[in-house]
Amino acid sequence: MCGIVGYVGPRPALPHLLQGLRRLEYRGYDSAGVALVTGQGIWMCKQSGKVAALAAALETAPASALAASCGIAHTRWATHGAPTQANAHPHSDPSGRFAVVHNGIVENYSVIRTHFQNQGHVFKSETDTEVIAHLLAECYQGDLAAAVGQVLRRIVGACGIAVVCADRPGEIIVARRGSPIVIGLGTGENFVASDSTALIAHTREVIYLDDNDLAVLTASGVEVRSLDNTPVVRTTTEITGEIGATEKGGYEHFMLKEIFEQPEALRNTLRGRLDLDLGTATLAGLNLTPRDIAALRRVLLVGCGTSRHAGLVGEYALEDFADMPAEVEQAAEFRYRNPIINSQDLLLAISQSGETADTLAAVREAIQKGAIVAGLCNVVGSTIAREAGRGIYLHAGPEISVASTKAFTSQVAALLMVALKFARGRRLPREEGMQLALELRGLPDLVEAVLEQNDAISLVAERYAAHDRAFFIGRGYLFPVALEGALKLKEISYVHAEGYHAAELKHGPIAMLDERM
Ligand code: GLU
Repeated sequence: MCGIVGYVGPRPALPHLLQGLRRLEYRGYDSAGVALVTGQGIWMCKQSGKVAALAAALETAPASALAASCGIAHTRWATHGAPTQANAHPHSDPSGRFAVVHNGIVENYSVIRTHFQNQGHVFKSETDTEVIAHLLAECYQGDLAAAVGQVLRRIVGACGIAVVCADRPGEIIVARRGSPIVIGLGTGENFVASDSTALIAHTREVIYLDDNDLAVLTASGVEVRSLDNTPVVRTTTEITGEIGATEKGGYEHFMLKEIFEQPEALRNTLRGRLDLDLGTATLAGLNLTPRDIAALRRVLLVGCGTSRHAGLVGEYALEDFADMPAEVEQAAEFRYRNPIINSQDLLLAISQSGETADTLAAVREAIQKGAIVAGLCNVVGSTIAREAGRGIYLHAGPEISVASTKAFTSQVAALLMVALKFARGRRLPREEGMQLALELRGLPDLVEAVLEQNDAISLVAERYAAHDRAFFIGRGYLFPVALEGALKLKEISYVHAEGYHAAELKHGPIAMLDERM
């Protein structure tokens, strides 16, 4: 889930929107865009890549857009459709009267998309989000807030949205369900963002929306309502903290921030995929029928470093629950020998970035040998995801820190769902499947309960921090976890020894590190 920014007031909106997007860059994203309400309707500009690329494209914006005093903007982390200009937000309806930016996932988007396609609507992107704009046009009868309320009732899944309409200049409607929205109160102007980091330069007075709240923002005021459009009262909070301190969302470093994002990442990985009634997992992207699964001879789990360790958990689970022969392969070795694989083998290529060179080479080798190949990646549209052609996206959100945390736990959750699905297809009775599905659903809460013990954990960490070496010992499922613990320590000491910032490492001078470990 990435960034939302909005401004309505007497001043030109664009500088505020760009500044807000820049302040949200720390979250990681793959594309960006703005929509401005001008006298001639809605004007949009979107770019794949950095906010700087969007700012460069905006240099040739028409005078009406530069003068517009109401607008919304977005940084996207793709979940549905590659990180292209067409898929970047905002998205509009066919008439171009409505524009929406969205954080989250519309789980029932394909049903809604088909509903509109049957009416002859043409879609301009591959995103789940675009259906929201089409729904807005269908529901709107002069009251934009009422239309947003109706739309929210028709979509399933997590969302934070901001909407503008050409017929209602000077009005932004925002809504929240499972994805944060915070409103910044100004004098004669109002701001909105998905994260208070983007507001702190303008105001300290904010209103945090609750789930299923929507709000109407104009220059002169903010009204919070429920989805059925009746007013609700939300308290105003004062935010504290320095601008610089919020760069990493208030955390000392990205790794800590991402450790604390694990419950949300896990919820997003599991969302819409657990079938509690049938006691199985719905993994449509794998595109394997029960017959395909029954015909499989074995599963090869290929990855490097953290991804390989997650693969080991997957191997144990496939053997335990599904009686499925499974083997983990070090991708860097796989490509340099002559692996005996054929069309009865499923190769699961595990890579957070979807770009790990050795894993990609393994994918190509397996495709060439006729195996069934699926990707397990976090980055949508990445090379491994594209070349494998089938797979499971983690939806864990951007991971900036080199030392992987939330991607590992999400990989494990995704692999446990694969094991559950295979187990139900091969041997596991429904009741046992239901029990496992229920336990998987409870995982994010359990992780949350562990993170609540942060203070006690810090005390233990302080006690051991000064030691040069550590042994991590584990058996069974805890063996790969021990390996992963040891790898974390190696990565962190490397970062300290070299004096690099973890984020620089992943994207900068020694990005190779990721691949070697
Ligand atoms: N699901 C949406 C998309 O793929 C929004 C992703 C986000 O939260 O940035 O475009």
